[in-house]
Amino acid sequence: MTYPSYRPDEKFERIDEIRCWFCKGIMSERAARQRKTIIPAAGAPSGLPSLRHLKGLTPKKVDALSSAGYETLEDLAFHFPGRYLDARELVPLNDLRKHLRRPVSVRGKVISANYTPSQRRGRAAISLKDDSGGALQLVYFDYPEWRSKQFRRGDEYLVAGYVGEFRNVIQIVQPPFIEHLSNPEEFVQGHVLPLYYLSPMLRKAGISDKSFRELIHQAVDECEKIGLLDEILPNDLIERHHLMPRVQSIHEVHWPSSPERAQLARRRMKYEELFFMQLRLSMERERMRSNVRGVVKYEVSPLLSALKDPIASRLANSGPAEEVLTSLPYKLTGGQVQSLREILHDMSKSDGRTYPMNRLLQGDVGSGKTIVALLAMLVAIENGYQCAFMAPTEVLAAQHFDTLTKILNSTDIKTALLIGGQKKRERKQILDAIASGETHIAVGTHALIQKSVRFQRLGFVVTDEQHRFGVAQRKALIDKSSDTAGPEEFEHDMFRIHIHEPTAVTPDVLLMTATPIPRTLALTLYGDMEVSTIRELPPGRKPIQTMLFYEHDHPVIYKAAIRRIEERAEQVFIVYPLRDKSVKIDSEAAEKAFEYLTAHDFKNFRVGLVHGKMSSNDKQEAMRRFREKEFDVLIATTVIEVVVDVPNATVMNIEHAERFGLAQLHQLRGRVGRGSGDSACVLVASEKLAMGEGMQTSDEIEQSSLALERLRTLVATSDGFEIAKADMQIRGTGELMGLKQSGKVRLRLADLTFDSDIVEQTLHDADAVISADPQLRTPANRATREEFLRLYRDAESYLHVG
Ligand code: ADP
Ligand code: MG
Repeated sequence: MTYPSYRPDEKFERIDEIRCWFCKGIMSERAARQRKTIIPAAGAPSGLPSLRHLKGLTPKKVDALSSAGYETLEDLAFHFPGRYLDARELVPLNDLRKHLRRPVSVRGKVISANYTPSQRRGRAAISLKDDSGGALQLVYFDYPEWRSKQFRRGDEYLVAGYVGEFRNVIQIVQPPFIEHLSNPEEFVQGHVLPLYYLSPMLRKAGISDKSFRELIHQAVDECEKIGLLDEILPNDLIERHHLMPRVQSIHEVHWPSSPERAQLARRRMKYEELFFMQLRLSMERERMRSNVRGVVKYEVSPLLSALKDPIASRLANSGPAEEVLTSLPYKLTGGQVQSLREILHDMSKSDGRTYPMNRLLQGDVGSGKTIVALLAMLVAIENGYQCAFMAPTEVLAAQHFDTLTKILNSTDIKTALLIGGQKKRERKQILDAIASGETHIAVGTHALIQKSVRFQRLGFVVTDEQHRFGVAQRKALIDKSSDTAGPEEFEHDMFRIHIHEPTAVTPDVLLMTATPIPRTLALTLYGDMEVSTIRELPPGRKPIQTMLFYEHDHPVIYKAAIRRIEERAEQVFIVYPLRDKSVKIDSEAAEKAFEYLTAHDFKNFRVGLVHGKMSSNDKQEAMRRFREKEFDVLIATTVIEVVVDVPNATVMNIEHAERFGLAQLHQLRGRVGRGSGDSACVLVASEKLAMGEGMQTSDEIEQSSLALERLRTLVATSDGFEIAKADMQIRGTGELMGLKQSGKVRLRLADLTFDSDIVEQTLHDADAVISADPQLRTPANRATREEFLRLYRDAESYLHVG
C-alpha cells in the first residue's frame, strides 16, 4: 500500500498539539530527546577537533559534554534545535484557559515567588503576570526552596509547557522550558528562539540554555572555517530540487531568519541525511542481489487455473494446492486472490528475474493471510520443495501448526512442529524428517532457519508477525530454555530473513504482518521487498464496539461482562499489559488480579489464568480449556495476543490500556468478534489519565494527552491501516518499526514517516547516482564520496579504495 505523502500543513493539522515542529507546539524535553536520538550509524566520524578549542569551557564542562555524547565540534554543530519558540506564538496569559491541557509558550513578569514547606512535598509557587491582565502560576516540587529564590520580582521570563488547572488557578507545573530575559528587548515580535535539549546533567555542570546556544554558535563557526560544512551533495541534485546550500542551511536551522527559511533549511538537511542513508542502502541492495545463489522457478499454472475455474480444476488430476483451494468452506476474498496472484507471479520468476521473492503480505487481523500463505507453500511443495513457517512465539507456532494440520488432514502433506519442551527422541525424529525431506512444512519460531535445523531442499519461507512485538517484549516472551531464536537475532533486522544454512537455492520469502508499513519505507529499508495487501475482511464479520473507561469504572465493567456470561453463556478476556522486560512482574500483576477477582467480582464464575511465567505446555493447556468453555473468564498477560480463535469470547477487557501500542491494542481487539455475536472491547485507562485529579506536571499532562489521543483513535476506528498510520505518526516510525535497533539509520532531523516525500525522492536519486557511478568516482561525486567514506566505518567495502 502507499501512504500519501503528507503536505506539511496536513501533517501539522493532525499532530498539531503533539508534535508540531515549528513554533506552535512544544514537546517535553524527554520527548524532544527521544525524537532526536542520534542513532549510531555504521560508523561515527572521528578524529575531529575536540571541544577544548571552544571559549568558556572548563575541563569539567568538557567532560560533562563528552559524557553527554558531544565529543567533537561537529557533534555540537549538528546538534539541531528540537523546537523553536516564536515570539508571534506567545499566548497572552488571560487566554490560557482556552489552552487547558495543551502546550503553550508565554511570557510574563514575576509578581511573587513563594516557598511552602511541607513534610510530604514542599513546593515553590511563582506568580506571573503580563499586560493582558491574566496570570499564571508556575509550580516546582524539586528543590522548591532554592527555586523560589531564583525568581526576583519584576524579572521577565519565557515559559513553555502544558497548561493545567488546580482549584481554579491556571498553572504550569514543572515547566520543561523556562528562560530568564535579562534584556526585555531580547525576545520580541519577529524573533525565533532555538531550543536545544539540555540534559539535567549538563545543567548541573553549569551549562545554561544561553551558554549552550553560544557554544553551538562557536562550534558552527569553527567547523565552517575548517571546511566541515562544505557542500557534500552532487551539484545537479541541488539544482534540480532547489536545495538551500549547505552552510546556509546549517545556519538557518540553528538561527532561523524566518520560520519559512527555517523550513527550507530543515528540508535541505533532511534531504542530505536521507540521501546518504539511501546511498548505502542502494549499495547494500546491489550487493545482496549479487549474492543470490540460485532461484527456483516454480510451476504455478495449476493453481492459477484453479483460481480461475475451480470446478474444472476439481475434476482434473490436481495437486494438494488445488485440492485445498477447491475444498475450502468459503470463497477467497478479492484481496486474498489478488495477493496470491502476486505471490505466484514472483514465484514463477516469469518476468525473468534472477533474485528470490521477498514479499510482504499485509492485511488486518482476521483478513485471512494464513490460507494465502498455505496455498503458496503448497505450490512450492508440488514443485518438490520444503517450506518453513515461522511465528514469533512458540504459542503462535503451535496454533499455526494446529490450523495447518486441520486443513491438510485430507492430503498427504506432512507437517511438523518444532518447539522447545519436546522430548529428545521426539525432537530428533522431527529433525531427521526435516533433513530427509519427508516433512513438507516445518512450523516453528524464527529459530527454524537459524539454529541447527537442516532442510533437504528448503524453497519457501513464511514468517508471521515477526516484527510485531517490541524488542523488550520479544525478549520477555522468548522461552530461554527452548530452541527459540536469541533476542539478538530478532534485533538484527525486522524484515530481512537471514538464512544461515547454506543451500543450493535462495528460498523465496513471504512475510506477513497486520501492521502495515508505508510502501516507501518498505522500499527504502528492504529494497527488493514488494508488498501485497488484503484490504477487506471476509464477509459476515460483526464490528466490535470499542469503549474507553477508567479504573474507577471497574464495577460497571465487570457487571456488564457478567451479564454476557450469565445471559448468553459468552466468554470474557481480561488482559494485563506486558510492559517491562520483566515477565515476572507482569505475571505477578496478572496473578494478583486473578486472586482478587476470583475472590470478589467473579467468585461465582470459572476463571482461568495464563501468563508468561508459565511453561509453554501450561499456557497451551489454559488456552485449550478456555476454548473448550471450561472457563468463563481468562485473565492473561499479553501472551494471549497470539491465542487461537475463541468464537464464543465476546468481551475483551484491556487493563492499563495506555501502556500498549496502538497496533498491539488493535491486535488484542481482534481476538473477539470472531463469532456471530456482537462483541465489545473495553479499554480501561489508568486512573491518572482521568482529568483533573490533583496537580499534574506539564510532563504528566503531555503524557496523558498523548495516551488518550491514542486510545481515542482506537475507539474511533477499526481500520487497521488507519491505526497503523496513527501509531506511526504519534510514535515516530523509527520506534515503531524497531529501526532504532537496525543500526542503519542516522537521522537527526528527518523522520521516515513524516518526510516520506523526501524518503522517496532520495531513494530514486541515490539509486540513479549509484547506477551511473557505482563507486562514486566521477569528479561530480567527489565530495559525496568523501562524505560517504567519512560517515560509514565499513564504507571501504563498498567503495573500493585505492
Ligand atoms: P490473519 O490474517 O489475521 O492471520 P487468519 O488467516 O487467521 O487471519 O484468518 C482468520 C479467520 O478467517 C480464520 O478462521 C480463517 O479460516 C477465516 N477465513 C480466511 N479467509 C476467509 C474467507 N475468504 N472467508 C471466510 N473466512 C475466511
Ligand atoms: Mg495470523
